[in-house]
Amino acid sequence: MAEVFFRSMNRRSFIQTGLAAFGTLVTLNSGCSTGLMKKGEQQTHLALLADIHIPEDVENNYRGFYPYRNLEKIVPDLVSTSPDGVLIAGDLARLTGQPGDYANLRKLLSPVAEKTPVFMALGNHDDRQNFMKVFNKTPGEKPAIKGKYVTVVKTAPVRLIMLDSLLYTDKVPGLLGKAQRQWLENYLKESDETPTILCFHHTLSDGDGDLLDVPRLFSMIAPIRKVKAIVYGHSHVYGYSEFEGIHLINLPAVGYNFNDSDPVGWVDARIGSRGGDFVLHAVAGNLDQDGSVTNLTWRKG
Ligand SMILES: [Zn+2]
Repeated sequence: MAEVFFRSMNRRSFIQTGLAAFGTLVTLNSGCSTGLMKKGEQQTHLALLADIHIPEDVENNYRGFYPYRNLEKIVPDLVSTSPDGVLIAGDLARLTGQPGDYANLRKLLSPVAEKTPVFMALGNHDDRQNFMKVFNKTPGEKPAIKGKYVTVVKTAPVRLIMLDSLLYTDKVPGLLGKAQRQWLENYLKESDETPTILCFHHTLSDGDGDLLDVPRLFSMIAPIRKVKAIVYGHSHVYGYSEFEGIHLINLPAVGYNFNDSDPVGWVDARIGSRGGDFVLHAVAGNLDQDGSVTNLTWRKG
């Protein structure tokens, strides 16, 4: 049975949603924001998640963490903060991308998806076919790239491009691949100068379990000045770094951490054309950084 999981995009465009939310933002931010966002600046409010690892068996656990319960705990926060969109940077499923994993994910996300569009990227623990069977209608533009699941999201201040770094299910490394890189290069060259953020699952170092074509990606995007940031997951570590002025934002995991020193949670982001404010919401693991705000300024040009 074909069902429409995400319905909010049919009623209002994402841009309109963003502008509508802006009206309440000034009130929310007054007196409590130390960020660079100025009153009157157009911005989009996004909830950023990664590595949610939803299992078919709700009791499935790892290192004392229950991924199903972690997302279940976060969902009311996602609903109440009413972001313009929710981004999930891959590893949606527990290990091998089973249909039951995605059925549970769909069920858990339903209260969120009824209110705001949810944009998902695939990770190395996802199965593209199984995912697309369960999530047969998702928001955002879907450019046709053979064997890849890519979503383009246009908001007033920034463009988001959700890429597909899934190479083999349940093996660690990732790859964008030549076809996707060439599509991206053409798309970036032909699109207007709207600041652009890339989002995908894999990490950006030179290890055997990272994004294997990261040098090719970096050499392509370094001179394309509209590319301001990359949002990714995979490491289950929360951190910020830079490459050629491009901000590299490594999201914490929602499902579990690998080390006790790392937070488990999500990031509440308010993103404009000149930069963004990122607030950590830690719900488990190391809670020391809960509420910490990171202000980023985009590179010029
Ligand atoms: Zn993961």
